[in-house]
Amino acid sequence: MMSEQKTKIGVFAAIFVISAWLISIVLLMNWEFRFDNPLTYIMILVQMHLYTGLFITAHDAMHGTVSHNRPTNNAIGQICTFLYACFPFKKLYKKHHEHHDHVHTEKDPDYYNGSFLMWYFKFITEYITWWQIVLMAIIFNILKL
Ligand SMILES: [Zn+2]
Repeated sequence: MMSEQKTKIGVFAAIFVISAWLISIVLLMNWEFRFDNPLTYIMILVQMHLYTGLFITAHDAMHGTVSHNRPTNNAIGQICTFLYACFPFKKLYKKHHEHHDHVHTEKDPDYYNGSFLMWYFKFITEYITWWQIVLMAIIFNILKL
């Protein structure tokens, strides 16, 4: 059983990562990109790390370790997977547990016995749907305005 203290730390860390991601993405959506500006590359690295933080938080939520309160845990997981790439948390949760239940077998949705490029194509098509791409494009264009 997760202690109350660990839950508070988990929720605080999640809120910190989500907030930092939001601040950074809003800043970057208003950023005047120039390839000769070294800050551009630093900010890309910062945003990449924050995306990783979102996914790590989502992964923790899939394992129920963000909060011992299941609705809070799953809500944070849903927020993180949505911000990451408009993923439905329930779908990722199901596939992620299939992955852990059948690691490195044909039943593992993350497994493919072939070249890296074919694995990557299978991995992407396993998780990304057309409606996610459309939704991300709509959100991007709304934020750009
Ligand atoms: Zn896992």
